[in-house]
Amino acid sequence: MTPIDPDAHPGGDALTRPFTPGMTANEPGLAAYPESVAVPVDIEIVDRETREFVEEWRNASYNCYSSGHKFCREVCPVMQVTRNESWTPTAFHANVVALERGELEVADIAADYVNCTQCGACELRCPNTLFTGDFYRFRTRTVDVVKAVRALAVDKGVHQPGWRSWNARTDERTHEPVLGDVEVSQDDVRDWADGLELPVGGETVLFVDCEAAFYRTSVPRAVAQILQRAGYEFGLMGEQWCCGGPAAEMGYVEQAQRFARHNLDNWRSTGTRRVLVLDPHDYISFTEDYPKYFGEEFDIEVVLVVELLAELLRDGRITPSVPVPRTITYHDPCRLNKRKGIWQEPREILRAIPGLTFNDVDRVTQWSFCSGGGGGLPVEKPELAAAISDTRLDAAATLGVDTLVSACPWSERPLAAAGDARDIDVVDIHELLAESLGITVGGSRGEVGDRRSGGGCGGGSCGGAGGCGS
Ligand code: SF4
Ligand code: SF4
Repeated sequence: MTPIDPDAHPGGDALTRPFTPGMTANEPGLAAYPESVAVPVDIEIVDRETREFVEEWRNASYNCYSSGHKFCREVCPVMQVTRNESWTPTAFHANVVALERGELEVADIAADYVNCTQCGACELRCPNTLFTGDFYRFRTRTVDVVKAVRALAVDKGVHQPGWRSWNARTDERTHEPVLGDVEVSQDDVRDWADGLELPVGGETVLFVDCEAAFYRTSVPRAVAQILQRAGYEFGLMGEQWCCGGPAAEMGYVEQAQRFARHNLDNWRSTGTRRVLVLDPHDYISFTEDYPKYFGEEFDIEVVLVVELLAELLRDGRITPSVPVPRTITYHDPCRLNKRKGIWQEPREILRAIPGLTFNDVDRVTQWSFCSGGGGGLPVEKPELAAAISDTRLDAAATLGVDTLVSACPWSERPLAAAGDARDIDVVDIHELLAESLGITVGGSRGEVGDRRSGGGCGGGSCGGAGGCGS
């Protein structure tokens, strides 16, 4: 355990209050606490960027390194399928200790940090998180440590080839280079909304992630038409760029901040005060990254669509009435359940849809489920992402379901590929709700396998390639 200086904080009551170094939610009195809770050491690292990184992350890393109980390993989706000890939260923290001691350089370890989806399961399972303030001093922050090492690597010119290319192409097009029917370009970012007669700008706008805007266009079309049905006013963003979250996750922080700056300025230019978000990755960007980038300047209200839809259901502004005869389970997107604690509202929606048989899993079990689609893993290691999706579908199959419902467009492509082998459809929750409202959403479902749906797709532009039967 990191040595504590008992005289540094008379009374010691701060240790009874949960806090995490660097988090904006810390009480003002604790803002400087992390710097003095451990006995300061002279870090003799010549390279400035590495030294600054170590100074920032050593306390949090020692908190894991000196515990070492490894409770995190079995909920880690990467560990589950690889059993590689170098790709565990324990190793990710221990490496920082090795950097501090001059035993490693970032170039030695950067490739190991590819093997993380940033799902957050390890943080939930870690006793250091569960007992922060009662016993442990620092909440475990594996996701942030992984992001920080990736950023240090990019800073030092250590690139992963897939990520470098992905981010270069994103920078060039201002959107991620997803493959789909619609060309990825600024001119086409609003094509998904063709025929819906949505205004541009205004107090509330809908932000659509790159996967949904260019590939899975049926998802934003479902959201838009449900909101229209409820009489909820919103517009399209004036000039939407990628949220920048994927770049931040892969370590390309300068690019991420540039994209964030553009989006914030664009919201300001159209008088936007509220942003509706349907994708969990965007939700993380807007609620965690943007406030860090902009501080108090970021005064935009961020609303997660799935929470808004649950509210509209509760208020009776939408009432599902068309039966959807499926036996389903729900895939909690990591960034909603594990990272943000949002698991109730999707279940509220699913339980309101007539005709569904919902075989749920317990909440603890959900910690260990991941699609493999996050943290840039599919870009750099598609085979590993696919193995994680296979594991997820195996778990769904044990529940005897014919459909796995997700609330994350980025999870649906890898999950659907794994579902094909098991005759399990992968369906988006927004599309399912639209179907139960009698809405034919149109658009493209890409390659997402959906053998049982009679509605929702409506033919659209998919040309039947998605196996939806149209
Ligand atoms: S991340 Fe938490 S559970 Fe895992 S080894 Fe470190 S301290 Fe233990
Ligand atoms: S965030 Fe997820 S993938 Fe990354 S180390 Fe933790 S459990 Fe494993």
